[in-house]
Amino acid sequence: MGTLTGRTALVTGGSRGIGRGIAERLGRDGATVAVHYGSNEAAAKETVAAIEAEGGSAFAIGQELGVPGDAAALWEAFDRRADGLDILVNNAGIGAANGFGTIEEAEYDRIFAVNTKAPFFLAQSGAERLRDGGRVINISTGLSRAALMPDTIAYAMAKGALDVFTKYLSKVVGSRGITVNTVSPGIVDTDINADWLRASDEAWEQAAAFSALGKVGTVSDIADVVAFLASDDARWVTGHWIDATGGSLA
Ligand code: NAP
Repeated sequence: MGTLTGRTALVTGGSRGIGRGIAERLGRDGATVAVHYGSNEAAAKETVAAIEAEGGSAFAIGQELGVPGDAAALWEAFDRRADGLDILVNNAGIGAANGFGTIEEAEYDRIFAVNTKAPFFLAQSGAERLRDGGRVINISTGLSRAALMPDTIAYAMAKGALDVFTKYLSKVVGSRGITVNTVSPGIVDTDINADWLRASDEAWEQAAAFSALGKVGTVSDIADVVAFLASDDARWVTGHWIDATGGSLA
């Protein structure tokens, strides 16, 4: 029996990258995992298959986030497949293509809609589904605490708002034994970084040098921290911002 046997988790953006790593880890720990995706159904099905191949249970649900009515539509799809929720992981997110000098309103609004507004309203309507003792885990970034990459200004601002949301929500739902925490990765090798991280050996080495441990993070490095927060062992940890940057902020 796993540490999360009998629990149900929803991982937004579980189709790829860090979200897939989290979904697979929670599935391995015994949770039934709702693997959310935006447009990439095939990738979500791969995550589901990987969980099932290890004896776990999972299903895929698609919903574009950052558009009006996104939370209601996602929960409607979830309710057709599951009866109640124990763990909500707000992981789906997008980066910014433009920095301070060139970003335009539409991109700025989109960054906030996907990275900040969607988790807020997913948690708002998710709260009534979350069983007492549940978990909300928001995936942020080390960049909300240190301006290591100035061109990510709008992205870092949106994630900074998500960090504040974590603190406040922990007070709102705490009386029900629900914990709310933020996990903040450093640079992890996923599609979000594909255009620059794997462009050259030099880019990879520079990225690795941000970390005190001298390496680029893996999705497992993040998923293992999320698994701890989802477990009973983390019942007394709430309202926290967990640094999962491999010491990039040290
Ligand atoms: P990724 O590989 O690009 O995957 C993004 C995931 O989010 C995909 O599953 C994608 O679904 C989903 N998604 C994106 N936009 C969406 C939208 N508008 N509606 C619905 N789903 C959407 O990204 P990642 O690197 O794993 O990032 C995961 C989280 O970690 C993000 O919140 C990111 O900000 C954060 N983070 C990442 C790093 C890093 O270095 N990788 C560092 C710090 C923080 P589809 O597959 O359907 O497109």
